Amino acid sequence: MSETIAAIATGQQPCAIGILRLSGDGVCAALDAVFRAGNGKPAAQQSPRAMVLGDLLDETGQVIDNVLCVRFPAPHSYTGEDCAELHCHGSPIVLDAGLRALLAAGCRQAGAGEFTKRAFLNGRMDLIQAESVVDLIDAETAEQAHNAVCQLDGALSRTVARIYDGLMDMAARFYAVVDYPDEDIEDVQREQMLDTLRTAQNDLETLVAGFSRGRLMKLGVPTVLLGKPNAGKSSLLNALLGYDRAIVTDIAGTTRDTVEEKVSVGGVLLRLIDTAGIRSGGDAVEALGVERSREAAKRASLAVLVLDGSRSLTAEDEEAISLAEAAPHLIVAVNKSDLPRRLDVGALADRFDNVLSVSAATGEGLDALAEAIAAQFPAGETVGGALLTNARQADAANRALSAVAEARSALRIGMTADVVLTDCEAALEALGELNGKRVRDDLVETIFSRFCVGK
Ligand code: GDP
Repeated sequence: MSETIAAIATGQQPCAIGILRLSGDGVCAALDAVFRAGNGKPAAQQSPRAMVLGDLLDETGQVIDNVLCVRFPAPHSYTGEDCAELHCHGSPIVLDAGLRALLAAGCRQAGAGEFTKRAFLNGRMDLIQAESVVDLIDAETAEQAHNAVCQLDGALSRTVARIYDGLMDMAARFYAVVDYPDEDIEDVQREQMLDTLRTAQNDLETLVAGFSRGRLMKLGVPTVLLGKPNAGKSSLLNALLGYDRAIVTDIAGTTRDTVEEKVSVGGVLLRLIDTAGIRSGGDAVEALGVERSREAAKRASLAVLVLDGSRSLTAEDEEAISLAEAAPHLIVAVNKSDLPRRLDVGALADRFDNVLSVSAATGEGLDALAEAIAAQFPAGETVGGALLTNARQADAANRALSAVAEARSALRIGMTADVVLTDCEAALEALGELNGKRVRDDLVETIFSRFCVGK
């Protein structure tokens, strides 16, 4: 018997359509209390998965809205239980009144992520897929959304299942050897097992390696804008963001603190850190800002070096250049292209691969900058949905990888079957946490508490 839960599944802003969602054994009874179908039939007699027009009623039987109702009988529903949706006009007042009516009709307000949690518990999706629902909803770039929808579709789950099944099969054979100690692991079997472990290790290594790429995609490429005061870093940041986030003035050293913004440039999500100008001297507050710039530069994956094209290079520029060169990816933006050029761009192009002429003031060259960034972090490198983006998943994959490596060396050096089996079990345990096959209840609680109500 599953309790019937209800929630508003759409946002809280007035909009065209708002959806009330229900799941549980009492869906039909609840619908009969709050929904009067135009065709006069009770909920249980409505065709499954077909929209029917009717009135949404409050607790007193008064009409609140004209709505469409659709029923998804178990087990062919999102949660695997009886489900229904009431598609109302997207007024927060209507939706609140509708939800109140459902609660009065015996439903319980759904907890955070409870629909998806029920889908997981009822075997409609594994844990990787369930977690991708949040990633899909929260996606900030097309690439993130694509990766999440591929995960939801099972791309990552299939890889994990393949590794899991291979190891499970192997473990089963080992149990046989442990249970019947007179038999030995035959040489042929040993080769096959080594092969299974080698494949599992390769697959896990690929997964773990993909995590850093997946992480960049999810959190944004840590990017620093470096350059001496007044080179135009804040102006460039604002031009990229499309609104005034950092304070821009022509007094050197205005940007005292570091500010962080996420911006999608050329389809790549950048976590931009606008830094205080690199300048020796200055007052104490500014000196602190400069120190933070140095720290940020060390952590960055991409440095955008901003130079003032209307002036020749100075010692301060050289200092910024030396910081920028420490980042794995470097783009040199020669700013103020709208002013007469004094900087020797040819000499710069000899020193650096990516030298672009831009104007934060007019927007000239920003498209080329976006293209250069996209070229440095190509989306094409990713195998859709096979990227781990979640630290919990990466941790489990890492533990599985170590255990598989241990099992492999144990088998290679001729350890007894029970030793290999112990490692194999540890790998299965870790993989089970990844896809939810062996996950602890409290971890499940923690994971689904990250969801919003209605998901
Ligand atoms: P920051 O100290 O490097 O962050 O530099 P700001 O962004 O505060 O800019 C310093 C000054 O240069 C301001 O007066 C900006 O208006 C000006 N500036 C920035 N970019 C350009 C540009 O592309 N062209 C021109 N003409 N002025 C710019």
